[in-house]
Amino acid sequence: MTYKNLQDLLDAGVDGRHVLVRSDFNVPLNDAGEITDPGRITASLPTLKALIDGGAKVIVTAHLGRPEGEPNEKYSLKPVAEALSEELGQYVALAADVVGEDAHERANGLTEGEILLVENVRFDPRETSKNDAEREEFARQLAALAADDGAYVSDGFGVVHRAQASVYDVAKLLPAYAGTLVEKEIERLGKVASEPEHPYVVVLGGSKVSDKLGVIEALAEKADSLLIGGGMCYTFLVAQGYDVQKSLLQDDMVDTCKDLLEKYGEKIVLPVDLLAASEFDSSNAETRVVGLDGIPEGWLSTDIGPETVKKFAGILAESKTVFWNGPMGVFEQEAYAEGTRGVAQALIDATKNNGSFTVVGGGDSAAAVRTLGLDEDGFSHISTGGGASLELLEGKDLPGVSVLES
Ligand code: ADP
Ligand code: MG
Repeated sequence: MTYKNLQDLLDAGVDGRHVLVRSDFNVPLNDAGEITDPGRITASLPTLKALIDGGAKVIVTAHLGRPEGEPNEKYSLKPVAEALSEELGQYVALAADVVGEDAHERANGLTEGEILLVENVRFDPRETSKNDAEREEFARQLAALAADDGAYVSDGFGVVHRAQASVYDVAKLLPAYAGTLVEKEIERLGKVASEPEHPYVVVLGGSKVSDKLGVIEALAEKADSLLIGGGMCYTFLVAQGYDVQKSLLQDDMVDTCKDLLEKYGEKIVLPVDLLAASEFDSSNAETRVVGLDGIPEGWLSTDIGPETVKKFAGILAESKTVFWNGPMGVFEQEAYAEGTRGVAQALIDATKNNGSFTVVGGGDSAAAVRTLGLDEDGFSHISTGGGASLELLEGKDLPGVSVLES
């Protein structure tokens, strides 16, 4: 893959030029609308700082959550603008719209080294439209914000697997460059994708079952072991004939799981015990560690059990490469966080004791590492991308990257 990077843009000179940057600020928020993990904001700073220092007039586009194509205060980038101002030590203005009058006026008014964030690009339905012409029209309006000798920098790694207007179409309209975050992610994940040292272990969990079951086949071909926990595992357990009661289940994927077990059975490692809870909200729940056939009637499983953590940790201890995506349980509640914490610690130990190259991918997985108080530096790489990192490992084309290729 060859594309121009941020250094190429800086060498060409950015002083006084408009530079449109696509960042990934899709951070988790709590019910009060506060950012619970600023990891993606922190990861975007190197590119933004370099452009500011170079004297660019920086305009940043980003999305937050799924506002479904219309303005929604709940998904405003306001908390992001505040956090970014703090991190950069410089005021970051937030436009009231995406490509409207306010965004244009503010973009035109920028001076060297100033930075403007426009509102959530997903407030406009054209951002994610399947209709090429609609997306292209929106991309033209985004590009028009960078009227002054504009350039485009793609730095939102978490969205490069999407052919969306602010990621893909706009890159065709302006001289386009990969930002430092995108470049670093491609280099580190590329290493896992193309030359993983064996044993190569993939750990999968989380809740986006239907999204992720699709990648298992591709990963099973390449990996030596696939450890499955979190919301992913119950569909497999049902495929094996267990009753998972009210645990997360993707009914329509049970047959797919049966096929996967038949084909890759010796590579797929499922839990041997589970944490069962009488209800989802841990503050009122009764909990119990149970065997696979022991979830009490009407209960659900919210985490893997301690024997499973031991089993997974034993396999991870022998690994030379690990990719982990998806928490092992509902880690947001401390009572259900032990499985995720244990597996994360096993990755850290494998890095330290076995020289394993360990990569964490996925917004919630990365957030778990930080919020559970684990040592971020204990991993070889923490990716900001979930779907994007999985697709890269599968060997799929990432439209937001290939569009940058020259
Ligand atoms: P990532 O963002 O790392 O790719 P996902 O978005 O797929 O991960 O999944 C993260 C979510 O999965 C977390 O919010 C977590 O609470 C949830 N989860 C994990 N285990 C379970 C489970 N057993 N039941 C329900 N949800 C779960
Ligand atoms: Mg997630």
